[in-house]
Amino acid sequence: MKNFTIETDADGIALVTWDSPGRSMNVIDASVMEDIDALIAKVASDDAIKGVVLTSGKKAFGAGADLTMLQAMQGEYEALKKTDEQKAARMLMDGAYKLNLTLRQIETGDKPWVAALEGLALGGCFEIALACHARVAADDDRITFGFPEVKVGLLPGGGGTQRTIRLVNPQDAVTMLLQGKNQRPKKAKQLGLITEVVPAGETVAKAKQMIRDGLKPVAPWDEKGFKAPINVWSPQGVQMLSAGNAIMRKETAGNYPAATNIMKCVYEGLQVPFDLALKIESRYFANCITTPEAKAMIRTLFINMQELNKGARRPDIEVPKVKKIGVIGAGFMGAGIAYVTAKAGIEVVLLDRDEKEAKEGKAYSEKLLDKAISRKHSTEEKKEALLSLIHPTANYDDLSDCDLVIEAVFEDKGVKKIVTESSEAVIGKKAIFASNTSTIPIGELAQASMRPRNFIGIHFFSPVDKMMLVEIIMGKKTSPEALAVAMDYVMAIKKTPIVVQDSRGFYVNRCVIRYMGEAWTMLTEGVPVAMIDNVARMVGMPVGPLELNDEVAIDLSNKVIKQTIADLGADAIDPRHQDLIKWMVEDNGRIGKKGGKGFYDYPEKPKTKKLWPELREKFPQLDADSIDIQDIKDRYLYTIAMEAARTVQEGVVTDIREADVGAILGFGFAPWSGGPLSYIDRIGLEAFQKRARQLAKKYGDHFKPIRLINEMAKNGETFYGRFGGEAEKKDAA
Ligand code: NAD
Repeated sequence: MKNFTIETDADGIALVTWDSPGRSMNVIDASVMEDIDALIAKVASDDAIKGVVLTSGKKAFGAGADLTMLQAMQGEYEALKKTDEQKAARMLMDGAYKLNLTLRQIETGDKPWVAALEGLALGGCFEIALACHARVAADDDRITFGFPEVKVGLLPGGGGTQRTIRLVNPQDAVTMLLQGKNQRPKKAKQLGLITEVVPAGETVAKAKQMIRDGLKPVAPWDEKGFKAPINVWSPQGVQMLSAGNAIMRKETAGNYPAATNIMKCVYEGLQVPFDLALKIESRYFANCITTPEAKAMIRTLFINMQELNKGARRPDIEVPKVKKIGVIGAGFMGAGIAYVTAKAGIEVVLLDRDEKEAKEGKAYSEKLLDKAISRKHSTEEKKEALLSLIHPTANYDDLSDCDLVIEAVFEDKGVKKIVTESSEAVIGKKAIFASNTSTIPIGELAQASMRPRNFIGIHFFSPVDKMMLVEIIMGKKTSPEALAVAMDYVMAIKKTPIVVQDSRGFYVNRCVIRYMGEAWTMLTEGVPVAMIDNVARMVGMPVGPLELNDEVAIDLSNKVIKQTIADLGADAIDPRHQDLIKWMVEDNGRIGKKGGKGFYDYPEKPKTKKLWPELREKFPQLDADSIDIQDIKDRYLYTIAMEAARTVQEGVVTDIREADVGAILGFGFAPWSGGPLSYIDRIGLEAFQKRARQLAKKYGDHFKPIRLINEMAKNGETFYGRFGGEAEKKDAA
């Protein structure tokens, strides 16, 4: 066994330690599956072993199944399906059922197993723990347990759905499974998922004690007379299921087959004996694996994102380690950048026009930390340590030994020029200077620099502490060394970097502006106001375009529109957009959420936002029945996807993985689709082209298929086939 070691003590308790070699985290792959079988056989056949304590040799217990293994299974299934559909289905079913069969042997064997969890246990790894007869967890709030499967289009297929609904009260169980929400140890105990919580470092001793005290090797559902916690046909059961289905519909709008499958597992599984329930779960798990949603989400949100996080786009050159960062502008963004940098243990010089403003920027970190302490996610010592790394100042000399300086001053070329020159006068020749501008091309800003090779864009999203994406922008002259430093920094603060070439709006904002622009057009067309955001959510966008516009500020949209007209001429902007936004901001002072008034009103009490009634007066409303909902859905997804494709055509995005990951992390592009380019691939290039032409006829030229789409449709290509090395040619859906 390469993944497990066994040490049996004088009491006959085997301490099994899981420590997969060459991995920083235990995951279930083919070799682990083999080893678990061997382990079960050894425990069963060795009379000296009276019971088992299963623990981990790593910090965490384990993160779940190796998704690359599941991805391979998807590929194998699809390949086999072409020649022998039945064999393919059998292979998939057997594969899906394997873990359940194995874990059931642990549960029904005649020796007690206890999981000793000193670190997190998620997905399949938590399912292993649940198949043990008891679970002891360390009392540490950094640890979590749960099932994130639904987030990549899957469900817990190793008994997770069935054991959870039998251990936890049904309402909490359903919510937990549907949301993929993890639980901290004490809460997990309260729910019934964990048997005991003990001080960190004492889980193994406690687990052994439980075995010595005679822990019965029988799961509750294997006891005679066991009754499921709820009868689905009782009034409570009906209520629970209808509430569960309602929550599921509200949160997924039917876009996530895995969520529907989870509800089916709950409903069907609770009506049959446990072993049959496991079979049912395996079938739905197999079904999930075959869905295009799981395929796309695993590829984008797991495999590709992980590769980008590990620096797939970093040039292979050595650059000095980033030890000290300068942040200029301690406003909303600068304060956030200082916080995430210090959080990664990196020293920060936070500079503003005067010391008072710089200190206010530092106070933002203090506020975030106090909040974290009140929620028990941090401690006073950690707060002091983090704050001691942020040095507020108004003196440029303090930047002299920074390896990287990021400016986040006002969005004004003149101010940025002064700041660039003042920094370059004091920083080292090799230091890198970065701008966090959201709209000004990096090439333009680099004109103020003496060292344009060292000038780069590092574009954060707000709020900086929550948004995981960072867009790195290469100016025409930016050197690979500057890129390597920027990448090292973004990886150090544990965010996901995408690297794009210079362009107005870079990548993410180009897509966002299409999304909001389509909503602006719909408003002026008289599409019923409430439908605009609601239909966006129906198609899987977490935030509607009008809500999003309120969040990012409408006065900002007004500025961007004006700047675009000044730079590119009046034709660059749809006059309906210009008039609408000007009317909102300049005539009505509706600047967005920050001003309490935008497309929505944001009353103090009750704190529920409401659409501004004036919108209905200004734009005579069409009859809702005359609206084709599918058109509205497609208008959102097609306009964004076409823009994403355009950035590929223009060479702004050079790695398609980044277009998909960036759109989901940057503004929540319908995650079920795996991103805008995966969405086009899924529809098929020819079908996408055809539908885009229809939309262009009805709703405007911006839907007209671009050259790249026409070319790919003609050649029968896909994005992942042509640019992503997947030599598949997908049939048009
Ligand atoms: P902000 O107005 O909150 O902060 C700007 C800060 O810069 C202020 O504290 C100001 O005192 C300081 N400043 C101005 N001139 C200065 C100078 N000469 N020297 C030193 N400090 C100076 O603005 P913000 O929202 O934090 O935006 C900052 C930058 O980040 C802009 O370029 C903006 O486009 C970009 N950005 C903003 C967002 C966002 O959502 N707000 C998102 C991404 C990028």
